[in-house]
Amino acid sequence: MKVLLVFAHPEPRSLNGALRDVAIKELEAQGHEVRVSDLYADGWKSEIDRADFPLLAQDARFRPAAASGEAFADNALTPDVKAEQEKLLWADTLILQFPLWWFSMPAILKGWVERVYAYGFAYGVGEHSDKRWGDRYGEGMLAGKRAMLIVTAGGWAEHYAGRGINGPIDDLLFPINHGILFYPGYDVLPPFVAYRVDRLDEAGFASVAERLRERMRTLGSAPPIPYRQQNGGDYLIPSMQLRPELGEAAATGFALHLKDEMATD
Ligand code: FAD
Repeated sequence: MKVLLVFAHPEPRSLNGALRDVAIKELEAQGHEVRVSDLYADGWKSEIDRADFPLLAQDARFRPAAASGEAFADNALTPDVKAEQEKLLWADTLILQFPLWWFSMPAILKGWVERVYAYGFAYGVGEHSDKRWGDRYGEGMLAGKRAMLIVTAGGWAEHYAGRGINGPIDDLLFPINHGILFYPGYDVLPPFVAYRVDRLDEAGFASVAERLRERMRTLGSAPPIPYRQQNGGDYLIPSMQLRPELGEAAATGFALHLKDEMATD
């Protein structure tokens, strides 16, 4: 497999840096080819602004999505963005690795998504009409590829369990797994999460590292999260509501978007 690992931690000697090295070593031992985008080390520019669209007329009103679509169609995105898009097209598996900061990804990684996921590349793909709402949620430019998160968290696993005060980890990561990865087509694997890491000792590290090695060994074979496909017949068009006969009638929330047999526990 060809694996792209996008790494978002400012310190190479961090726990995240050590876990990245564990993951790469195991993937290479399995014969996979690995490329890394190290966002802090590369000085990744995280904000979308006019500088991203050199062809935009100076007096034109800046509309980010429209500018993105035009620049993508004209092959006029900036070289840093184009290089990341090429890596995404090269890779058959994408890993996003980051420490959980304020219950989400670090800003630099969000900025990578915002800039690299251009209109026409990751959204605005396919036919948009009253019968079809584009190629997204399981379809799109990155369909057929796999993706997975590697996340470290200071909080305890119990704090992120079903009744934990932080909210369930699957809910917190839903906007990333479903909204950022499934949206442009990826099959999304369950995340690798290491909890309570801030005072991890050597034995704790060894156990987390072994768990991560195991996940790297099954990267090509583990079943993805069974999200419902937008165009698979489960949603009404154009309201995009889950059909009334699916899911529990009164239920709302993220779990509705898992196929029924998976959403009951
Ligand atoms: P480091 O600080 O680098 O290391 C953590 C521990 O691992 C250290 O004790 C280190 O000695 C040890 N370690 C053991 N073996 C090794 C090795 N081989 N190499 C390196 N280190 C090793 N947590 C939450 O749960 N929810 C939040 O919303 C949240 N928000 C945060 C927001 C901010 C801005 C910050 C700074 C932290 C937040 N945290 C939160 C905590 C954060 O998730 C953790 O601090 C982070 O995941 C730890 O990862 P690290 O790579 O920075 O660890």
